[in-house]
Amino acid sequence: MDAETSPSRSIATGLRHARRAVHGACRQAARLALDIALPRLCISCREPVDGDGVCAACWSKLSFIAPPYCPRLGIPFIYDPGPDLLSMEAIAAPPAYTRARAAVRYDEVAATLVHALKYQGRTDLAPPMGRWMARAGRELLAEADMLVPVPLHWRRSWSRRYNQSGALAQVIAGASGVKLRGDLLRRIRATEHQVGLSRPQRASNVQGAFKVAGEAQSEVQGRRVILVDDVLTSGATVDACARALLRAQAAQVDVLVFARVVDGPRPPI
Ligand SMILES: [Zn+2]
Repeated sequence: MDAETSPSRSIATGLRHARRAVHGACRQAARLALDIALPRLCISCREPVDGDGVCAACWSKLSFIAPPYCPRLGIPFIYDPGPDLLSMEAIAAPPAYTRARAAVRYDEVAATLVHALKYQGRTDLAPPMGRWMARAGRELLAEADMLVPVPLHWRRSWSRRYNQSGALAQVIAGASGVKLRGDLLRRIRATEHQVGLSRPQRASNVQGAFKVAGEAQSEVQGRRVILVDDVLTSGATVDACARALLRAQAAQVDVLVFARVVDGPRPPI
């Protein structure tokens, strides 16, 4: 019998294993207790923070959009030109939707939040992001009949397991009382990712990609709809969705996003 398999050695090994298992369980319990006792973490940088949301440092880096802005596109102005003055973009290329509003500018912190919600399963981000959106879209929500999230193609929604626009729309519905209809608008064609495409390419990529399901047309007819999405870049996706809803005779389509790309502060025209 060699030393490796002697009974005393086996007992010692067994004891060592048992001790390790007990230690592991204790550590786990301690960690659980710590998790409960620890303050919440900043949703962006994961530093401890009071309440939920982002820490002071990340908050100061987020650019919340506030008036004055273009009443149609929600693009911030550097000064207030008075009521009803539109941005150059709204005049040059008016979109199919009536008004767009965004909670924040799409910058580094906003991109971190959007990316984490979309690709890292951070569903805990949806409540604060949705609440900021509800605040930014207060004026639109006061007049709306329903919230419609920009749909994913079923293949993508299956691989990602959930639709981030739907998650945001659910929070906005809870905060505003406007009902959520995630089933009315369908993406009938899988589209390429819009990243890296030019403005005309983006428009043709999503053209005809959305449709109001036949049986749902009567529910859209004559209704004021708010389309919900995470980011507004060229606006091609929400414009294609708005066209589909207007084809189904929606009375009006507005757009509410978490973040929008803003080239820089600008004069109204
Ligand atoms: Zn932070």
